[in-house]
Amino acid sequence: MSDGADRLAEVRRRIAEAARAAGRDPAAVTLVAVSKTHGADRVRELLDAGQRVFGENRVQEAEAKFPALKAQYPDLMLHLIGPLQTNKVREAVALFDVIESVDREKLAAALAKEMARAARRPACYVQVNTGEEPQKAGVLPGEVDAFVASCRDVHKLPLVGLMCIPPVEEEPALHFALLTKMAARNGLAQVSMGMSADYEIAVRLGATHVRVGTALFGHRGG
Ligand SMILES: *Cc1c(COP(=O)(O)O)cnc(C)c1O
Repeated sequence: MSDGADRLAEVRRRIAEAARAAGRDPAAVTLVAVSKTHGADRVRELLDAGQRVFGENRVQEAEAKFPALKAQYPDLMLHLIGPLQTNKVREAVALFDVIESVDREKLAAALAKEMARAARRPACYVQVNTGEEPQKAGVLPGEVDAFVASCRDVHKLPLVGLMCIPPVEEEPALHFALLTKMAARNGLAQVSMGMSADYEIAVRLGATHVRVGTALFGHRGG
């Protein structure tokens, strides 16, 4: 087995273990392999090992890597997990299957308009700034319910879940529990949370999607 395949097997094993420990079905948790900064050859290694769901945080980088891979693996699912500028909405709707970073009215409106034009509707998540960090993207917790309602009722986006990136220096469990609660309250089935350092905690607290980069690909730029 390749290093990539070994790491993948280990992450999947840990996800399954965390799910079972929490009385959850391991199949209810999707691993999003975050391939940002890593080349198409590394992505292909995981594809060959059976991984099909990938995450990228920049539209341009994903455009350079994924069209060829998607042509070769038609069931590949690509998630946008980074900030989306409105001037990149056309490219994002064309390439991504899921957009996890919807966080403002202007973006919701631009996505709705482009989805209608392109007749393509990637599933959307609202990104929540659970730590209320000024520099971080995402809707503030107190504004989530109103923004979700607007995405659904005004913009008619195909909204399926919530996503968060907790503050690095804080206990993630509190943020994960909050996100799960907000998703349930809003009738949203999907909860994207947990990265290499804390995905098992996220699974125990209800994550349906964990976004794991380093634990699968090794350190970025190294
Ligand atoms: C890079 C990134 C990840 C993966 O982080 P790792 O610590 O490498 O697992 C997850 N989510 C987002 C939004 C990211 O930008």
